[in-house]
Amino acid sequence: MSKPKRGRSLWRLPSRSRGTCPVCSSTRIKLLYPRTKSEGTAVTVCKKCSKAEQSRVDSAVLI
Ligand SMILES: [Zn+2]
Repeated sequence: MSKPKRGRSLWRLPSRSRGTCPVCSSTRIKLLYPRTKSEGTAVTVCKKCSKAEQSRVDSAVLI
């Protein structure tokens, strides 16, 4: 098995898995970590924000 969050396997994903993190607004960062807001909306965040507090995920603005 290849590493699912590294290398060329990411290139198959939409926009090569890169985008703007809805929590910390980093641009062109890899968005690979799913989080769920309190109201149930699924968001995909960067590695830093995969460990962020739920309150920060809840205040994320979807782009
Ligand atoms: Zn982030």
